[in-house]
Amino acid sequence: MSRNPLLADTAARAARYVDAVRERSVVPSQDAIARLDALGGALPEDGEDPGALIALLDDVGSPATVASTGGRYFGFVTGGALPATVAANWLATAWDQNAGLFAQSPVASKVEEIAAAWLLDVLGLPSSSGVGFVTGATMANFTALAAARHWLLKRAGWNVEERGLFGAPEITVIVGGEVHVSLLKALALLGFGRMRVITVPADDQGRMRADALPALNDRTLVCIQAGNVNTGAFDPAATICAKAREANAWVHVDGAFGLWAAAAPQRAHLMNGFAEADSLATDCHKWLNVPYDSGLSFVRDAESLRAAMSIRAAYLSQGDNREPCQFTPEASRRARGIEVWAALRSLGRRGLAEMIESNCRLATRFAAGLRSAGFAVLNDVMLNQVMVSFGNAEKTRRVIAEVQNQGACWCGGTEWHGHTAMRISVSCWATTEEDVDRSLAAIVRIAGT
Ligand SMILES: *Cc1c(COP(=O)(O)O)cnc(C)c1O
Repeated sequence: MSRNPLLADTAARAARYVDAVRERSVVPSQDAIARLDALGGALPEDGEDPGALIALLDDVGSPATVASTGGRYFGFVTGGALPATVAANWLATAWDQNAGLFAQSPVASKVEEIAAAWLLDVLGLPSSSGVGFVTGATMANFTALAAARHWLLKRAGWNVEERGLFGAPEITVIVGGEVHVSLLKALALLGFGRMRVITVPADDQGRMRADALPALNDRTLVCIQAGNVNTGAFDPAATICAKAREANAWVHVDGAFGLWAAAAPQRAHLMNGFAEADSLATDCHKWLNVPYDSGLSFVRDAESLRAAMSIRAAYLSQGDNREPCQFTPEASRRARGIEVWAALRSLGRRGLAEMIESNCRLATRFAAGLRSAGFAVLNDVMLNQVMVSFGNAEKTRRVIAEVQNQGACWCGGTEWHGHTAMRISVSCWATTEEDVDRSLAAIVRIAGT
């Protein structure tokens, strides 16, 4: 028996939560949410027993969670957490490693290096790319775009890290009509501005229209997308990357979830041409199914990533080992590469392909079930995203609200080219055919009343 019963007791509580999560309502009850006040009150003068407060947190907190890791949560684009990744996260948290520097955590640095090489392999990206382990796709976009900014301005004779953007040569930023809002936020944070982008129109599936691309030059940054958040569609990367290469422009890819199609042989054609891009961003807490918070930046010219992220201090010497903080905005941080390593090692190449493929098959099953019940599926379902209308906007909104309220499953709403739609994203490792059929039955029943 451990001399640390707190951790053993907490592990037992966590295991009970995970065992039960598949069967409970996906949303917490109003009562459970109201009971959260029990966690508050005045700050205690004297410290409380950790075992007691963990018991309180479990008793009051667990019922007020959204069961997003349980297999019937289809909101936004939300993965679960594979068992191996939760366990690896616990161990790494107990280690309490600072993953900023090799000297602070040789294991964190080494595991990142190993996972980075596996990722580049399984995603079909150049093996010499720089890889940054960041908090999510927003920061992955930010980090990769900072590398783009460095490279484009360096070739224009401007050192942006030293001199900033005031007086710098202008960079033209191109986005598609269906650009994700988080990419615009990243552009804003980098001083590119949300409004001064050139927006290229998108087609009926949300793909950037390559024929509408303006002339590119060596001061152009083209931001494309692998996986539209509503339809799952991919921009025509091969054509765009070829044009950009000719013009010496930089192509960045927001592939928050779509990038993982590269890991599944039957979907890999969707990623055709994307490996030619200069930088790519993705999430691990979405389709790789690791705990929050976890995203990745990939930059073909690793030196540009390092130059954009580097910090200078005499005590941060650079040896032969990977210094994780040279690839990310953060210095001190948790060892999030450990869960990525655990996911890849527990799945293997085949398991990863099957997890992605299975989610795509289940999305197709959803679409078929909804169509056969008489409802209109609004997108070509070729990945994991399904959009459905239940008639007019008012009815669709009512169905979404009622589905969310009843808790058999959870689906969000969206607007798509003038239609109000329910959006279903199948992104969780735990989702089964039975989960889809149960969810379909609930949705069809609600929509039929
Ligand atoms: C989810 C998503 C993002 C933002 O990711 P975060 O992990 O929430 O920062 C960016 N782009 C696309 C296409 C997404 O689906």
